[in-house]
Amino acid sequence: MFGLSGKVALVTGASRGIGQAVAARLAEQGATVVLAARGDHAGTAAADIVASGGRAEAVGIDVTDTAALEQIPPAIIERHGRLDILISNAGITRDQLLLRMKRDDWDAVIATNLTASFVLAQAAIRPMIKQRAGRIIAVSSVVGQMGNAGQTNYAASKAGLIGFAKALAREVASRNVTVNVIAPGMIDTDMTRALGEKAHTAWTEQIPLGRLGSVDDVAAAACFLASDEAAYITGHVLAVNGGMYM
Ligand code: NAP
Repeated sequence: MFGLSGKVALVTGASRGIGQAVAARLAEQGATVVLAARGDHAGTAAADIVASGGRAEAVGIDVTDTAALEQIPPAIIERHGRLDILISNAGITRDQLLLRMKRDDWDAVIATNLTASFVLAQAAIRPMIKQRAGRIIAVSSVVGQMGNAGQTNYAASKAGLIGFAKALAREVASRNVTVNVIAPGMIDTDMTRALGEKAHTAWTEQIPLGRLGSVDDVAAAACFLASDEAAYITGHVLAVNGGMYM
């Protein structure tokens, strides 16, 4: 089940956390994976995959650099002949109550979390249509579904991804390209560790399954949506949140 042999995948934000785990899982299932992050940050994660027998390489990209970002899908196709799976995962938070939020905090979050997904999808969609096959998966958040005080910028970016994916899913379904969203809840990564122990405990109390999610919980969902077995699922928002929002 969920074999990905012969598929080529691009995962952004793959230097650590969710993106790293997603990249590793796709490679385990046989995909060739291009791991993207800034500078040479994804190099170690790619090397780990190769060391365990997988096929992977790293690419240095700041996803807010539109001109450079739109070159990534064509470069992958030139090098590997195809691009089957695009996972837009790179994301940041710049939390602040709206009254105090700086315009820069709004712009940075929208550029990284939302606009980069648009740029990448636009660059990947033509070759996927030509291939008559493709999987686009955006990593949103439970916060995009339920809101969270102090995160108007982040919630807007993550809710934006859901609308974007549903619209694009309708545009490209006839070409056998699916577009889906994963909405993780609280996952144990650098991003949530930065919130501190007290916040962790408070969040855990709101999670019916009684624990934070792991990066592997999200990677399993990504692997499923990327697989042939998920061929009849498009425009879907797959919650991986331990039941914190139903
Ligand atoms: P993380 O540990 O902070 O990792 C973020 C990743 O995004 C890193 O690989 C980072 O790469 C990359 N990134 C950030 N800005 C970038 C930029 N401008 N250009 C290229 N890469 C950039 O975060 P995470 O917890 O794994 O989160 C991954 C995704 O899941 C995010 O979209 C996040 O919003 C979403 N999410 C997370 C949670 C959670 O609880 N953790 C919940 C819901 C949704 P660098 O090495 O370049 O910094």
